[in-house]
Amino acid sequence: MQRLALFDLDNTLIDLDAAFLLWAHEFAEEHRLGRKAVDHLVKLDRNGLPHRELFFTKVRERFKLSASAADLWAAYRRRMPHLVECRPEVMAALTELRASGWRVGVVTNGTADNQLGKLQRTGLADVVDGYALSGAEGIRKPDVGLFEIAARRCGVSLADGGWMVGDHPVADIGGGHAAGLRTIWIDRGTQPDHEHPPDHVVTDVMCATDILQDIGK
Ligand SMILES: [Mg+2]
Repeated sequence: MQRLALFDLDNTLIDLDAAFLLWAHEFAEEHRLGRKAVDHLVKLDRNGLPHRELFFTKVRERFKLSASAADLWAAYRRRMPHLVECRPEVMAALTELRASGWRVGVVTNGTADNQLGKLQRTGLADVVDGYALSGAEGIRKPDVGLFEIAARRCGVSLADGGWMVGDHPVADIGGGHAAGLRTIWIDRGTQPDHEHPPDHVVTDVMCATDILQDIGK
């Protein structure tokens, strides 16, 4: 199997939940929503409102904000790239994988401006071979098409196999499986998808890069 390693971005290479908490504090302060608002925002986020348009519609209603949901969401997308971080050891691990002959790519769902901003601000855009963003391509994981684009940007064909690492059971593990890739699931306490059991389960992306390094030896 060729050495292709595709990674999800949010809550895989970067800790989106931590960045979201920073954002929630800023947002509550900016709009003078009071201290309990942060808990409410976090709960709304964790309870599965990944679609930000819907999230901001609810937030706007709850706190009786005058700005439109679209404007609130746009401000969020502008701000988030400044709040996310990729740990130095993760950046180093990706660089080491490439030095060992791996092609390394990112395949992520989300709006193009937000996801590209995150890749650029963290420096990830410079340490991977390629990336595919759903917002830019018009297809989302688990659609195999987005994995194909990512592989191609890394200069290889998906047909020769590889690995997908991510935290989402359906988008990353189900999608990776459908794309013919072996999979490593970052278990963050969510429900696994029993239909597509991953090849490995880890709790941190560093464990995933260790596994890949061992396989490549
Ligand atoms: Mg994710």
